[in-house]
Amino acid sequence: MSENEQLEFKSLGLSENILESLKNLGYKKPTPIQSKSIPIALMGRDVLGCAQTGTGKTASFVLPIVDILNSQKSKARMPRSLILSPTRELADQISEYFKKIAKYHKLVVSLLIGGTQLGDQDKELNKGVDVLIATPGRLIDHINRGNILLNDLKILVIDEADRMLDMGFIPDIEFICSKLPKIRQTLFFSATLSKEIVKIGKKFVINPKLIEVSPPSSTSNTISQKLVKCNNKNKLSLLEEVLFSLDTQNTVIFCNRKKDIDILSKNLIRKKFQTITFHGDLVQSKRNEALNNFKNASNKILIASDVAGRGLDVNNISHVINYDVPNNPEDYIHRIGRTGRAGKKGVAITFFSKDDLKSIGEIENLINSKIDVLDLNTKKKSEIIDDYNFNTINESDHVPNFLKR
Ligand code: AMP
Repeated sequence: MSENEQLEFKSLGLSENILESLKNLGYKKPTPIQSKSIPIALMGRDVLGCAQTGTGKTASFVLPIVDILNSQKSKARMPRSLILSPTRELADQISEYFKKIAKYHKLVVSLLIGGTQLGDQDKELNKGVDVLIATPGRLIDHINRGNILLNDLKILVIDEADRMLDMGFIPDIEFICSKLPKIRQTLFFSATLSKEIVKIGKKFVINPKLIEVSPPSSTSNTISQKLVKCNNKNKLSLLEEVLFSLDTQNTVIFCNRKKDIDILSKNLIRKKFQTITFHGDLVQSKRNEALNNFKNASNKILIASDVAGRGLDVNNISHVINYDVPNNPEDYIHRIGRTGRAGKKGVAITFFSKDDLKSIGEIENLINSKIDVLDLNTKKKSEIIDDYNFNTINESDHVPNFLKR
């Protein structure tokens, strides 16, 4: 990458070491959220940011934090920065990201999430941590055990605040913030900035810069969205029909209920599809294993609950299928945002029955556009393929990707 290609990153005020890490990652220029929030964060100001996952939001706080913290060392049990994340997977991804970016810096990054040993985490805290990435529940466990002191904290990030609200974490965050110094820098991010979220955000930030990069509640225009009409009796066979018709890389199928994930998986395995299941009832080691298998796979189907709706950053998810219409319209945006990432094309297909019409209307209101309905019952397979804009394949030599080993 030439010097010129990095000029835009340079102009944001980032250090040479960070520029080197960005070069290794192959980033050519900042995304809009990065251009807007990095200079503000480097100035030490608070941010109230509206950005969805997939916009480069993580780097917009990771890059300035690494540069800000680089000048001093941490003390035992007194982290200098804290990133609060609603889910373990998102926390894990942020931690991995810090490690990549801080490659040329001597920063200690530690992850405090449920499902892992408290004792091991305690040892890490004792050594001194610069960047602590935590889910609220596990952090409170450590605070209550006296394992951690937050009164030297310089920077707080509250990530995915709207998800925190949905998951009932706001009281936990208030408790955590009561342990932090009043004078600190706070970066508050949410995928949507509803009145309620702004009201909550204002409790944690002081004189923030409001940053919005895309209209709230928008879906990426790289994703082609379709609806498939079904009923209880034909839903599974229609799903199989759709899966056989697609030319996919990796696919995520979302179900609303955890028990349906296992049932669906068994049904699809019977039809020789390769599936991986992922939901909140799995122990953490199984969740990690499932994600790693999926990340390193091709032509596999991840059948998941909304735990995977946010933050799941896996390249090459070509299709997202909502086997159930999500209960919350905002979850629709997050689910389908797993595909069509980083400028690539993606397809999102949502199965619905007549009982879902109200929910579909709410989704269409939120995204401010109508989604085309395709009734598979009345279409021939070749038409389905055309309608979905998939690669048209000769029926005779069509071996579905999922069956290729
Ligand atoms: P995020 O919204 O933070 O989940 O980021 C979505 C994806 O975009 C991740 O895979 C990042 O590695 C990637 N990304 C972030 N910033 C850039 C950039 N400036 N150029 C290219 N890719 C980026």
